[in-house]
Amino acid sequence: MTSTLLTNIGQLVSWDDEQPIREKAALVIEGDRVAWVGSSSVTPLADERIDVDGAAVVPGFVDSHTHLVFGGDRSEEFEARLAGQPYAAGGIRTTVAATRALPTPQLRVRATRLAAEALRSGTTTLEIKSGYGLTVEDELRSLEVASTLTPHRTFLGAHVVPEGSDASNYVDLVTGPMLEAVAGVASAIDAFCEEGAFDEDQCRRVLTAGAARGLAVHVHANQLRPGPGVQLAASLGALSADHCTHVTDEDVTALRDSGVVAVLVPAAEFSTRSAYAPARRLLDAGVSVAVATDCNPGTSFTTSMGFVIALACRELGMTPREALHAATAGGASALAQRDVGHLRVGARADLVVLDAPSYVHLAYRPGVDLVRSVIRRGEVVR
Ligand SMILES: [Zn+2]
Repeated sequence: MTSTLLTNIGQLVSWDDEQPIREKAALVIEGDRVAWVGSSSVTPLADERIDVDGAAVVPGFVDSHTHLVFGGDRSEEFEARLAGQPYAAGGIRTTVAATRALPTPQLRVRATRLAAEALRSGTTTLEIKSGYGLTVEDELRSLEVASTLTPHRTFLGAHVVPEGSDASNYVDLVTGPMLEAVAGVASAIDAFCEEGAFDEDQCRRVLTAGAARGLAVHVHANQLRPGPGVQLAASLGALSADHCTHVTDEDVTALRDSGVVAVLVPAAEFSTRSAYAPARRLLDAGVSVAVATDCNPGTSFTTSMGFVIALACRELGMTPREALHAATAGGASALAQRDVGHLRVGARADLVVLDAPSYVHLAYRPGVDLVRSVIRRGEVVR
């Protein structure tokens, strides 16, 4: 097994219990794992040596919420929204029509391009949802495309009721033949619990059916107004409740007590000019918080976790350290993946070498490509 010493690290964020952030550090990669972390003044021998010249090194970003598999473009809708039209859940149907019309090879090329864009910007772990097919065949092929890009693929058949369908019949389809078809390809299930999408009972039916097939549970919860999504996530033992923009004190307590991760997606609020999630209230109450891009063509067309970190600091009131933690360890918790999101010994060697002396630059220099190098599973990929 080849070992590589990364040395002369100006600042290493490992999230190690004793020394979560270490100055003048070094790290050894063996195969695809972190084998040693310590001071750059006394380093073990390794086959290869990379001097990063004082740069900061952080764990690869974990983007726990994306919708990367889709056809079409909604820049016109975006422009109209900026001219004053409000966002409504029904806009999803535009993408559904475009996705269904796109042959699988093109669908794959587009999703692969977006996943590559995410990787270049430092995202080494990516979750991808379906949800723009909404037929058995189109949901299955969306998840099959996702399966070529990540092990974290979430079945979101309950994204919106497709045009011409009755909600109750559609939920029968999602929990019956559609789930049957995708259960072997998906790793998790999700439902959009929102007025204009699915109500509490419909979401519970969908999510419990998925859980019974061994799928992990995520919920699109409390995005556009207060609602039952967060409580539903807590009662079902979901991994995450995503969005959490409009939460009551009871919702906050439920998140804290259940350990459900609140996945905040400030780029969606940025793109839709909506109120931001109350991150401070959640953090101060002791809720586990992640941040993610929610990359999708309607409300958040970005793959950049650096941008999300900057927004989390500027708009969610998070400190740069909290924002980076949420973008790495927080995302890993939302996906229940223990060996990513940190750089402790034994972690997967997924890391980003920044073109900066400190991780704070991620928020301090918004909009700038600060990624000098990306290492995934021990391999330099950028
Ligand atoms: Zn979403």
